[in-house]
Amino acid sequence: MANYSQIDIPFDARYTCLFCGEPSSDVVNIPFSVDDINKAPHEPLSVPTCTECQLVVKKARCQSIHQYRNAVKAALTRKYQKALSIGSNWTEQELQESEFEGAAFEGFKRSAWMMYTIAKERINYSGWPLSLDGVPLAADEEAGGFKFDGTEFVSVEHAIEHYIKTFHLDAILLPELVKYLGKDKFGYAVRVSRLYLNVSAAERTQIVADIVERQA
Ligand SMILES: [Zn+2]
Repeated sequence: MANYSQIDIPFDARYTCLFCGEPSSDVVNIPFSVDDINKAPHEPLSVPTCTECQLVVKKARCQSIHQYRNAVKAALTRKYQKALSIGSNWTEQELQESEFEGAAFEGFKRSAWMMYTIAKERINYSGWPLSLDGVPLAADEEAGGFKFDGTEFVSVEHAIEHYIKTFHLDAILLPELVKYLGKDKFGYAVRVSRLYLNVSAAERTQIVADIVERQA
């Protein structure tokens, strides 16, 4: 199928994936399905992508470029959950000074921080201001992203999912705490959740009640 008009690309972003900042290898049509053209808030367009982001776009079934960006961010966050968790579990210095021995751990130490940095930079990549033939694209009402500990998540719900996996948290406790404490206290909610990894329903209710009362 023919490509749509290419989105404007700043000179220094030639050959850059719009979604993650890695070198681009191809272009992809937005929306990807012709059935969605009438539902997109902007003209159909094509954007440069890397192979990995292109695969996500082809499967995502979104309409606007903004929705596709969120879909790619969410997919990369899930795919690189382990790499991102390195930054949650270690600081760079701790990793270097850690005294774990053995060839396997030496290899991990060498590559871990780099893997974390690359994953985080790709997920946080914000691209460039979007325009077609010099006309800025209509922005759709973007459901607010959520930034925590240096990583930008599509939403607070995605951040909750990520930290449950990263720290093996109780799947109900963290969302409950965030619901009652608000996302400004996200870090506190994560810290509390890390203290209570295996809780019964009754314990969980009690913890939430105690925490909410203390914050009131
Ligand atoms: Zn990419």
